[in-house]
Amino acid sequence: MNQGLAMNQVRGDYFDTFNTITSPAPQEVLQAAMDECAYYNKLLSKTVPGSDVWRINHNHGEPVTVSEHTRTILEMALEMNRASEGAFNIAIGPAIALWHFTDGTAVLPDPEKLKEAVKRADCSRICLEENTVTVPEEVEIDLGGIAKGYICDCIADSLRARGVTSALLNFGGNVVTVGKRPDGQPWTIGLQRPSGERGKEFWAAVKSSDNTLVTSGIYERSFQLNGMTYHHILDPRTGWPVQNHILTVTAVTKSSLLADAITTALFVLGPEKGLALAQKYGVSAVYLRDDGKVFFDPDLDIVFVK
Ligand code: AMP
Ligand code: MG
Repeated sequence: MNQGLAMNQVRGDYFDTFNTITSPAPQEVLQAAMDECAYYNKLLSKTVPGSDVWRINHNHGEPVTVSEHTRTILEMALEMNRASEGAFNIAIGPAIALWHFTDGTAVLPDPEKLKEAVKRADCSRICLEENTVTVPEEVEIDLGGIAKGYICDCIADSLRARGVTSALLNFGGNVVTVGKRPDGQPWTIGLQRPSGERGKEFWAAVKSSDNTLVTSGIYERSFQLNGMTYHHILDPRTGWPVQNHILTVTAVTKSSLLADAITTALFVLGPEKGLALAQKYGVSAVYLRDDGKVFFDPDLDIVFVK
């Protein structure tokens, strides 16, 4: 949303999304923080040979020593798996791979192969002891539902360490605000209207300062076939996209790592179970259903756009 102030902006193409940092701070300071994304991409991408995730997935069941960053993400991922009773599941990697959402060749997977992939999605077989991860050969992890939140937290901390007191990070639906706007007002974050033009049409707005807003929506990555929409958030029990009439869910809290993990879980769980889980974590959440009905935490300071 236009914050109506003189701002610098840097853009970066990382993690299969378009990322921006907007701030009155000098362009080179913002660029230096954005450039750190290359480091996190090299560490956490499942397709970059030698990354922590690549080594976990290619180590034939042998233990792998990972960075502190990866350990922090895995701890949250495994906790969220338990807390959401399996709705959030990073072991869903083989099922995700069958859908080809990120390389532009999305297809309906072979149902037998999908069943096989789901059998392999057993998070309880991921063993994390301090910085050592052991994953059986047939289990493959995918941090697509959680890593961006962690990276956003890290880049926001890096901006703060560089003396930036006011900034808005938007990493493909993962928003973090550093401080307030330069005029002392909180930032206004628009929630993307699922059917609207990206970055231009919003269905609601939330005020935010030193906070994070993370959205999981079916419009992020999806394709249409025979009148059906197939999107990238999978039910770990079946390997098929979740069909619960939810279009989008947003979580608001302090940690973007938590927000990213929980938002994916909230999407899978749906409003009833999801709002209860969010409350347990002190997270405010808002859902939009395909009939226009909204479910939200009454503590959330939200304005709906007609
Ligand atoms: P998000 O946009 O954060 O909800 O993350 C969606 C991404 O997380 C997908 O593109 C997949 O890489 C991965 N993913 C899909 N379904 C799940 C799930 N049930 N649990 C964890 N990660 C998932
Ligand atoms: Mg997520």
